[in-house]
Amino acid sequence: MKSMSSRALLDNANLKYSRQREGLLDVLKEQKTPITIDQLDELVRAKKLSINLSTIYRILEAFLKHDMIEKTFNITMQSYVIELKHSHHRHYLICLDCQKMIPIQQCPMHDIVEHIEKEQNFHVSAHQLEIYGYCSDCIKNH
Ligand SMILES: [Zn+2]
Ligand SMILES: [Zn+2]
Repeated sequence: MKSMSSRALLDNANLKYSRQREGLLDVLKEQKTPITIDQLDELVRAKKLSINLSTIYRILEAFLKHDMIEKTFNITMQSYVIELKHSHHRHYLICLDCQKMIPIQQCPMHDIVEHIEKEQNFHVSAHQLEIYGYCSDCIKNH
């Protein structure tokens, strides 16, 4: 799947273009796993984008409101992490040792959600699932 340009993403979300918004989207697009705001701030600095932290927060607020990013709480990091919304949402295996997040390809909740909707007559609009354990590298090193 070819990814949209940051400019097109802003257009799609009905958000006005700005260099700073585009810059943040560019950084988020490069990430394979969710990152904390601190990590985002570091990446922004490394790229010399000169967007200060309060502006980053303000832009992320707008991205959240326009459904462009997802924010979840990572228990091992004790911090919120963000990522761009994907057409297929992702779940992660989270290593308790190195805190690596490994995406799993399929949503294992799909059948369960269907079942719940039928059994409980409950409309499920969202769900979260994180699986904790130890990654292959960390198992090797123990
Ligand atoms: Zn690990
Ligand atoms: Zn799911």
